[in-house]
Amino acid sequence: MEQEVYAPQQNTFTCVLCGLSTPFTYFGQKPPNTRAIVLLEECFVTRDPFSPDKERFLVLGSKCSLCGSCACVGSDCSLFYTTRFCMRCVNKNLEQFPAAIQSEVAKKPTSKPAVP
Ligand SMILES: [Zn+2]
Ligand SMILES: [Zn+2]
Repeated sequence: MEQEVYAPQQNTFTCVLCGLSTPFTYFGQKPPNTRAIVLLEECFVTRDPFSPDKERFLVLGSKCSLCGSCACVGSDCSLFYTTRFCMRCVNKNLEQFPAAIQSEVAKKPTSKPAVP
């Protein structure tokens, strides 16, 4: 259904949870200019600005498989369990996740520590 889209122009990825906003260069499972990399999910990807190596890239985030919101890969914002879920949906449907995930989420402090 969803096609991999290569976006030559600059698009912006915005995390709906923490508000992180950063340009991405590609959305999909196979970042361009990488040899044998296939991601486990469709991700927002950007070229690693700190590396001269063209094949280095950073995964910024992905779309929640339930609500379709964009969430970054930060552990406060989303969780990967067979597919990507934003933390809003994880908390809403917590009883449907395995016990290991539930305790993982329960361990998290309710208020996020300040990020420098
Ligand atoms: Zn985030
Ligand atoms: Zn969601």
